[in-house]
Order: sequence, then structure tokens, then C-alpha cells
Amino acid sequence: MSSLRVVEIFTSIQGESSFMGLPFQFVRLSGCNLRCTWCDTPESYTGPETHMTVEEILCILNSVSLNHVCVTGGEPLLQRACINLLDSLVGCGFTVTLETNGSLDISPVPECVHRIMDIKCPSSGMAASFCMDNLSCLTSRDEIKFVIGDAGDYAYARQFFLDHLSAFTGPVFVSPVLNLIDPEHLAKWVLCDKLPLRIQVQLHKLIRCK
Ligand code: SF4
Repeated sequence: MSSLRVVEIFTSIQGESSFMGLPFQFVRLSGCNLRCTWCDTPESYTGPETHMTVEEILCILNSVSLNHVCVTGGEPLLQRACINLLDSLVGCGFTVTLETNGSLDISPVPECVHRIMDIKCPSSGMAASFCMDNLSCLTSRDEIKFVIGDAGDYAYARQFFLDHLSAFTGPVFVSPVLNLIDPEHLAKWVLCDKLPLRIQVQLHKLIRCK
């Protein structure tokens, strides 16, 4: 029986993506292969973890009457059993999102899962981490997020969008790092460029309801 290393399972408001604002159940898996300078979830790779089977996780999720589940980290795809978990969640009828840092192959993720994928910008210190092969398997169900810490990050995201994502039909978000950049500056840059980038302020940082 496959088991996963789990940091926490909790219910909250989804703070990001096109699902922003909806009540969700979250499964935070342990471990991350990156170390972003502005990481806001270091507990995902430094905190205590619990070993749980897929069945034990499902038992907790099924006890809550909420159909939306987000599997997040850290980097969930580091754990091979993550795919088993995603398959089981889809099989149980949940609407499932997966938050991934973009550095690992996303192609094994079940088709019904909404993949919310980061593309790391220079201020994260991890801009070289993105797995470019992931671009070829994107569908309109997927969503892309650039976390923007400074003007250089926005320039990077803008160029990446023009070079690789102009044909992508899913949403592309630019999200300011809280307390590092004024969201109004980001809004002005997006308005100036008139590109179909969506500004996203992390709702879960404004409304703490975990
Ligand atoms: S990928 Fe996510 S969890 Fe990992 S270091 Fe970066 S922000 Fe933190």
C-alpha cells in the first residue's frame, strides 16, 4: 500500500488560481526540491510530517462535505504516490487541482486534474528550474503562475509569455510577492503591455481563515 508524507490536511478559502475564493480542502505534501528566496511555506520541507496511506487521506477528505481538493506542497510531484492520490481523488468524484513548481514532469498527472504550474522568475533564485518539456503537454485546463518580486521578474515573465505562451488558452497569472512589490506597479506594467496576463493578489494572505 503506497503512503505519502503529509504536512497537513485542512479546509480554507482557495487563495489563488481561477478557483480563488472557493472553499477547498487542502492536502499539503512534504518536501520541496527548490529553495525560493521568498518562500512562504518553508514548513513544507522543514516541518513535521505524517506518513499516511491514500486511503487514510481519502477517509479524512470524505468526512468533509466539500467537493474541491487542492494537492499542494512543497512540490507534491516529488512523491511518486502523489499520482496514486490524484487518481483516487478523481475516481471519488472530487474536483482536483495540483499546485506544482514547474520543475518536474507534469505529464503523469491524470487528465482531469487542473494543474496550477509556477514558472519561477529570477528573484526567486530558481529561474533555471523550469522543465521546458512541460510546455508541450499543457491543455486549457491548466493554469500558469509567475510570482513577481521586482521589475526584472515582470520583464522575465513578459518575455516568457511572448516566446512560449501566446498560444496557450488557459489563464496566465502574475502574482506580486507580498511586501516586496507594490501590486499597483504590477498593474501599471500589465496595463501598459496590454497582454492577457491576470493580476492575482493572494487572497489567503489577506483573509486568514485556516
Ligand atoms: S517551490 Fe514553493 S515550497 Fe518550494 S521553495 Fe519555492 S515557494 Fe517554497
